[in-house]
Amino acid sequence: MQLSSKLPHVGTTIFTVMSKLAQECGAINLSQGFPDFPIDGKLIDLVDKAMRAGNNQYAPMPGLPALREAIAAKAQLLYGFRYDPETEVTVTSGGTQAIFTAIGAVVHPGDEVIIIDPAYDCYAPTVELFGGRPVHVRLGNDMKFDADVVKTAITPRTRMLMINTPHNPAGTILRDADMQRIADMLRDTDIILLSDEVYEHLVFDGEPHVSAINYPELRDRAFVIFSFGKVFHATGWKMGYAMAPKPLTAEFRKVHQFNVFSANTPMQHALATYMKEPAHYEQVGAFYQAKRDRFAAGMRNSRFKLLPCEGSYFQTADYSAISNEGDRAFAERVAREFGVATIPLSPFYKEPPPEQRLLRFCFAKQDATLDAAIEKLCRI
Ligand code: GLN
Repeated sequence: MQLSSKLPHVGTTIFTVMSKLAQECGAINLSQGFPDFPIDGKLIDLVDKAMRAGNNQYAPMPGLPALREAIAAKAQLLYGFRYDPETEVTVTSGGTQAIFTAIGAVVHPGDEVIIIDPAYDCYAPTVELFGGRPVHVRLGNDMKFDADVVKTAITPRTRMLMINTPHNPAGTILRDADMQRIADMLRDTDIILLSDEVYEHLVFDGEPHVSAINYPELRDRAFVIFSFGKVFHATGWKMGYAMAPKPLTAEFRKVHQFNVFSANTPMQHALATYMKEPAHYEQVGAFYQAKRDRFAAGMRNSRFKLLPCEGSYFQTADYSAISNEGDRAFAERVAREFGVATIPLSPFYKEPPPEQRLLRFCFAKQDATLDAAIEKLCRI
């Protein structure tokens, strides 16, 4: 049988590749982004309670009303705008499913979608799957957003611009001036914005998380995507949500209903109760900032050069003082020979900058895990 691949250039995602390698060679896993510490027992009790109360069948297609209400209330509290939970909030099976669904809902064959490299690895393949054409531009020096570069990519065929703050894998954030420039460049166009804000609470050094929701001009044309997994240390729950104006949400739900139909019911009950308490997410930024600082302090004794980390739970580091190997080969060697699994940056690019020598380290780990990894990394 002749099978014509829809994604001929796509292999297995680097997260799966590196986590598998970590397991195979017993390396400390700072590759795929997930915490290695337990979630709050209260959250587990709430799931247990929901299951025992019989909430084990399909949730309503757009999400449990109580959870959508809690999401709308939280967004209003944090970003000063109230989405209508009935028509503008949809609970998803994680951020990736929300991104897939948003792209599937609005990208037509031949449409251009601007992707800013390095970009999370699901963006471009999802666009291609729906017949769209990813148009790649790059973050500027120090992984900072460069509005002038993005603007040059806009054409009459641009359907969507994808942004991500805090940024995975770069660890940088967008600020008010960046959002203003994005608003300027999208004004008088029909371009839809997809704002991936799954690390919303992981912003450091007293900076605010600047959301697309803060800007009426942006939120009126945006899918804004969030993740419970990142906030509550439960990436395996695969729970997230998308907020968008009514017409965009209507299209989103047309795809969502035939993609997953609805997200996990008992988890939705638990989250609806748990997230009502701001204390459950307010401390997350400080918690991860301390981990960032611990990792950075330890790595000062290594030959890696750390790039600024303003948000997310990822630290990027330059290894050019150690080796001139390509980043995949180097990451593999670091895992096998030195016992620490990391993520190379090149898979996040259409065309990786040939001179770039960067690895990404996930610091969402217990202090003991970080310390053990630091010790190994300092031997390189
Ligand atoms: N978001 C996680 C990361 O960046 C990976 C999630 C996944 O493996 N799909 O490491």
